[in-house]
Amino acid sequence: MHQIRPIVELGDPRLRKEAMVVGRVFENAVINIISDMEVTLASTDGVGLAAPQIGESYQIIIIGSRPTDRYPLAPQMDSIVMINPSFTATNEHCEKDWEGCLSIPGIRALVPRYTEIQVDYQDINGLRLHVHLSGFIARVFQHEFDHLMGHVYLDRVESNLDIVSEKMFQELYV
Ligand SMILES: [Zn+2]
Repeated sequence: MHQIRPIVELGDPRLRKEAMVVGRVFENAVINIISDMEVTLASTDGVGLAAPQIGESYQIIIIGSRPTDRYPLAPQMDSIVMINPSFTATNEHCEKDWEGCLSIPGIRALVPRYTEIQVDYQDINGLRLHVHLSGFIARVFQHEFDHLMGHVYLDRVESNLDIVSEKMFQELYV
């Protein structure tokens, strides 16, 4: 059965490892990880999840933007499972905006990200797909992609002055 899995938090070495490329998309282990990621993400008010966040070192992410308590202004979309994703920025333009992370509870920070990206990935059928992402969804993708490389968003924060507590974020910016 698919189960809600505990979220791995900052300090756990599994968040700092480069995740493995998925070789066989149809393997039961892979299908089970994706199902667990889907129910785990649905049980939170996050808008994306990477496999290392449930302790699975595979290059799998889910982008599932929807308005939640954590992200009231997030656009609604059907969630996308991306296996072995990669991306290139389609222009150099970056913007800073607020991010949080289920693996780093209690804080938010301003993070610079590319605003327009081209993403390549495999879907759950193993098909190789390309998609252009912009704005908030491009930001969520880059955040989750970082998890696959062993990075977290705090690594990209330009100044400690750009970090606030979750409580102050809710008071000041929501
Ligand atoms: Zn995260």
